[in-house]
This record gives sequence, structure tokens and C-alpha cells, in this order.
Amino acid sequence: MPLRVVCDSEERQMIVAELHDGVVGGHRGIKGTYEKVRRLYWWEGQYKDVERYCMTCEECQKRAHVRYKEPLHPSYPTRPGEKVHIDLVKMPKGVGNMNYVVNIRDDFTRFVDGKPIRSKTAKEVKNFVLEYISRYGCVGKIVMDRGSEFLADEVQDVFKRAGARVSIATAYHPQTNSPVERGHQTLIASLSKWCKGKDSDWPRYFRYAIWADNVTVRASTGYPPYTLWFGRHCPLFIEFHVDSWTTIDWAEEMSREELIAARTRQIAYGLEENLMTASDRLAVERDKGKERWDKNVRIRKERVSVGDMVLLYDAALERTWTGKLANRWMGPYRVVEALDWGAYMIVELDGSKWKDPVAGTRLKLFRPRPGAALSLADPKGKGKAKIEDGTPPRRYEAGESSKKRKRVEKRKVKGLALGRKKK
Ligand SMILES: [Zn+2]
Repeated sequence: MPLRVVCDSEERQMIVAELHDGVVGGHRGIKGTYEKVRRLYWWEGQYKDVERYCMTCEECQKRAHVRYKEPLHPSYPTRPGEKVHIDLVKMPKGVGNMNYVVNIRDDFTRFVDGKPIRSKTAKEVKNFVLEYISRYGCVGKIVMDRGSEFLADEVQDVFKRAGARVSIATAYHPQTNSPVERGHQTLIASLSKWCKGKDSDWPRYFRYAIWADNVTVRASTGYPPYTLWFGRHCPLFIEFHVDSWTTIDWAEEMSREELIAARTRQIAYGLEENLMTASDRLAVERDKGKERWDKNVRIRKERVSVGDMVLLYDAALERTWTGKLANRWMGPYRVVEALDWGAYMIVELDGSKWKDPVAGTRLKLFRPRPGAALSLADPKGKGKAKIEDGTPPRRYEAGESSKKRKRVEKRKVKGLALGRKKK
């Protein structure tokens, strides 16, 4: 039986619409929809039409599972203390009522220091930061997430006094506070080995875990963090029993060559060349890391820029199974400002602005369906629904006022996106 040839473009549109979001459509993907269409009808450019229709389907865009990551922009530090990351890690309840670890890790050397704390208050964080700076000196730049305990005035004040530039990362933003590079995992893994099943003991072993972390050679730099950070090798217990190159010159029998070789090695350790070698190596490793990241994760191909219409990912749904049927994406909104740390300011389509910036990883471009085909969508017919670039008016659930919807969405984002508390 030959296929029916459809010439009328409105008729084509109707067919695709019916087979994509009609009773038997079920909002299947491009291929699924195309298969339905092509078995019944034929016209030139059929696949393209189906593709365009499916890609601009509002429901499909809002329910899509796929989230995009930003490409990685690695940093290439060359000096200890040039940039450090401060972080809080939730721990199991430990002896002395310790519940968290606050830590600062150097971006270049990976040198880490930290402290078990009872609660994540600004005061505890401030005390640690002050200890850190008084012990190791000032740092150039400190990266933190938007936790209220970091943003508190008393903490920020310490950084200001120390002359450190503060950089605030948005949640899940790989460029700045990369989760893969935080290094919690190794610290926690070594703590759990010390604890031998008695997890609450972790604060007792905390300093050992930090120490071990700092004297272990990093693949990324080729040196132990301690060595690059202090410019000297960290003497270890064993070396006072079994001579190593650091202690060998204490031996009585030694040729002059041996002595010089050992001395050279000791002296050379931690000098400028080492920092340079380490930073070169780190740059290579970070480039490799970027290559892996960019290859393996879904990287956004189209950059989000000012003026774009976007959908905002609803992160709350990740934790609730009830969210399975809900829209994963809210919006559309419009981007009005791109901030330099990969976050964006967005507005409602009527221009009302969101208070907090949102991470680029939570946004994706919204593809409005141009013009005529959309007339079916608008239940309210309010004037402001018409947007200059032919954007479709937003659809609402039955019985839901636009005001209520906005309120709900705003509250959601305020609560979760960045977790910042207003004073
Ligand atoms: Zn659809």
C-alpha cells in the first residue's frame, strides 16, 4: 500500500503534533515519532519536520533526564598558597561530639590542613581559618561554596584582613570547586581504616590521616604535598631507624661522593626547580583531566548567554522518588547577566528578577516553537504572554494561577539552589 503524500504544511504539522503529543503520541523521541509518521505518510523533509517539532516540545524539554555539564576550565597554579579551597565535610558523629571536618586544601601542592568541629557555625570556621593563616601565612585566593557559615561576616573579615581574594563557587560547579579534586575521599578512606569499624573514633585519628595525606606523593605533581608546601622533606619515623637519603649523611662511613650526592639531593629538594617541575606536571595532568571530562560527560554544546531563554533544573527532585513524574525543568526564564564564575542571573519572562544567581549546570537552552503552531497553547490569552521573538506563551496546569506557580518555583529555587540564607 503506497504511503499517502501530504503536501499541505498545516496538515503536516497536524500529523506530527497528533503523533507526538496526541492521544497515541506519548511524547516519544524524534526517532519514535518519526517511525509513527513515516509508516502512514510521506513528504519531502519529513524527518527534519519531526525533529524540529520534537525538539521544541515544551513538555519534552521540561521532563528531559539529560543534564549538561560545563566544560572544565582547569587552573594552572605555580605557587603554594596561590589558591586554596575551603570546605566542610559532614562526618559520622565522633568522639567529643564532632560532626564535621573543616579543611583547606592548596590547589597546587594539594597540601591540606583541617580540623574536626562540632557544628558548622561561622565561629568554628573562623577559628580554623585564623589558625590556618597564622600557621601558614596568607593565601592569594580562597575558593568556597555558598554555605552561610563561609559567607558570614566574621569569616569574611578574617580573609579580608589577610588580604585574600575570595571566590565563591556555585553548587556543583566544576570549574571552581571541583568535587573530583577535593580529595575528601582519600582522607575519609584512610580515616575509616584507622577506625577499624568503630566510626565514632575518627576524630582520634584525624591528625594521622592529615599527615599521611600530606606526605603521600601526588600523581598530579609528582611530589608529596608537604615537600612542595614547606620546601623540605617531611622527616618520617622510619628514617631515624633505617637510614634513607635524608638521614644517610649521619652514617659514619661515607665516601665524599656519597655525601655530596646525598647533600645535593637534600638541598635540591624543595627548590625552585621542584616547584617548576611540579607545576609543569600539574598542567599536563590537568589538561588530561579536562580532556577526559570533556569527552565523557555531556558537555553543553551551545553556550548559554545573555538574552537566551532557558529552563532551570529542579535539583530537589533528585532526592525524592515522588518527583519522577514531575517536570524536571522549570521555566522558561530569560538570562540577563553572566557572572564570571559560571553562574547566571535569570528573570521571569515578565522581567521580575531572581535574587540569587544560578549555576550554569542547572540551565539549558529552551527552544520555543516558532509562530503559528502554538496557538493551541495559550489558555489565558493575557497580553504579556507574547514575547518579542515569537516565544510561546507558558502553559499552566489546570486551576493554577500564574502567580501561584511563580511563587512556588521561586520558593523552590531560593531554598535549594544555593542554600544561602538572607540576613
Ligand atoms: Zn513532547
